Amino acid sequence: MLTEERKKEIKTNIDRIKSEMAQAKEKSPYGQDTVLLAATKTRTAEEINYAIECGITRIGENRVQEMLERYDDINRDKVAFDFIGALQTNKVKYIIDKVDMIQSVDRLELAREIDRQAKKHNLVMDILVEINIGGEQSKSGIAPEDAESFIREISSFEGIKIKGLMSIPPICTDIDKQKNYFKKIMNIFIDISAKKIDNVDMSILSFGMSDDYMLGIECGSTMVRVGTAIFGARDYTKKQMN
Ligand SMILES: *Cc1c(COP(=O)(O)O)cnc(C)c1O
Repeated sequence: MLTEERKKEIKTNIDRIKSEMAQAKEKSPYGQDTVLLAATKTRTAEEINYAIECGITRIGENRVQEMLERYDDINRDKVAFDFIGALQTNKVKYIIDKVDMIQSVDRLELAREIDRQAKKHNLVMDILVEINIGGEQSKSGIAPEDAESFIREISSFEGIKIKGLMSIPPICTDIDKQKNYFKKIMNIFIDISAKKIDNVDMSILSFGMSDDYMLGIECGSTMVRVGTAIFGARDYTKKQMN
């Protein structure tokens, strides 16, 4: 059971973020609508369910095992489930019939396996292509210059539907630099949309997290993925999770 204090904290955070999102939208030249996705790693089912009660309509899971452990405890009829974390190819089979979208497609082998498992389950999986916008060695994602050829290659897979791009830009404190990363993602998005590739529906741009969701929205994000700003700091000491 969540304490009243904990509930109040989560509700206040969500209300504040939503009002800040509305302000950021005013500043966006695109005037787009943006979904607030709650990033749920390390959170309990009670916390997640309460966030859903407070109006969260989409959640993002990072870890297959953690997701499966609490899957039946989440009030799923009111919420869409995305997978947003690094995904091992051999784990696709565990989540394929449980998630609404996989945001972290970063290699051909993974796209192939999602396609194969989706067909097996008679479904078409929505996916986002993850772009490594900062070109960081330590991060997953397709290099910006390879995005188009990658998308063309997987666009023929009948078990997947490409819905847009996802990115985790490098951490930086310089706002102009940060904006440049977001603009770069937007440019790839616009470029690829203009090519009108069959089976590609470029409608979702997923970027912006707790520290930069407002800037992300000002730069055109249609989906911000927020954890800490909703639930507070993560405590990794409680439980060891991959
Ligand atoms: C954890 C996580 C987030 C949210 O991070 P916060 O800084 O807690 O908002 C967003 N996207 C991905 C892929 C994540 O793993």
